[in-house]
Amino acid sequence: MQNVVRSKQSLSEEELAKLKEIDWETYYRESASADLKGLSNCPDCNTILIAHDDQSELTCYHCGKKITL
Ligand SMILES: [Zn+2]
Repeated sequence: MQNVVRSKQSLSEEELAKLKEIDWETYYRESASADLKGLSNCPDCNTILIAHDDQSELTCYHCGKKITL
């Protein structure tokens, strides 16, 4: 029984940590401003990037890496 409770707790902590990694401020600002092509992740630092319809390439907000869509 205790093991079940414990693994549930560690799972939810993991999920919370994942949520904290998302840059929600950027996400909401960008998604409010224009039509979206979709979401990508920077392969280097895993920052979530938002692509607009007219973009063929993204620059990572965090590390500056160029990502071709
Ligand atoms: Zn990056």
